[in-house]
Amino acid sequence: MRRNCLMRFFLIWMLTGSALFTLRAQEATTVPQAQQLERIDTLEIDDRYTIQFDTTETPDLRPWVRKELMPVCRQWYPKIIEMLPSEGFNAPTEVKVTFKADMDGVAYASGTQITAAGPWYRRQLQGEALGSIVHELVHVVQQYRNRRGRQRNPSWMVEGVADYIRWFLYEPAKNRPRVDPKRSNYDDSYRTTAAFLDYAVRQHDPELIRKFNAAMREGTYTPDLWDRWTGHSAKAIWSEYVETLQN
Ligand SMILES: [Zn+2]
Repeated sequence: MRRNCLMRFFLIWMLTGSALFTLRAQEATTVPQAQQLERIDTLEIDDRYTIQFDTTETPDLRPWVRKELMPVCRQWYPKIIEMLPSEGFNAPTEVKVTFKADMDGVAYASGTQITAAGPWYRRQLQGEALGSIVHELVHVVQQYRNRRGRQRNPSWMVEGVADYIRWFLYEPAKNRPRVDPKRSNYDDSYRTTAAFLDYAVRQHDPELIRKFNAAMREGTYTPDLWDRWTGHSAKAIWSEYVETLQN
């Protein structure tokens, strides 16, 4: 009788124990599912543009996206559009920025999508994070397509325009890149070309970026446009710029 009682107790203990275990196991499997919930913030700008920010894979970046990145995009997406007009062109009205958990490098733009490497952004929140998204937004607005039978845009100019807007218009002056004339050339792309474009805009033609943008969007960029619009080749303007660095 006593043994029977113990057996029953043991049986009940086993059953409730395994029931609890099953419950825990269920909880354990539902946690990762919860992490897969979409985390998307939507920014509406002037009833005209919508930018979505997807931090599904990088939820820790979401507070930064909301507090810092969204206000910058609200201000700068329409600004960049205004800086880069061309005849008959309408900038994309829907843009998406996705932060990936497992991605090397920094970020890239493809059409209206920006894909950003979570690990790099996590390290750069106090550094280059915001500026790099401004750079990618320029690519979204550029919408340069290499058209058949048209000139291919030189990538140093495409990246130079994006970095010019980023470093010389968006970033504070103290962050501007410094060019070492001994080791660089105007077509080095990115920061060096950005500094070169800044010099050309200030010294030769304040409309230069707008004009080159329109030409690149329409597939009509050729090196002789430099001569046509400034009276000098890019090479000659670079020599002039280098002179100013040495003095
Ligand atoms: Zn770029």
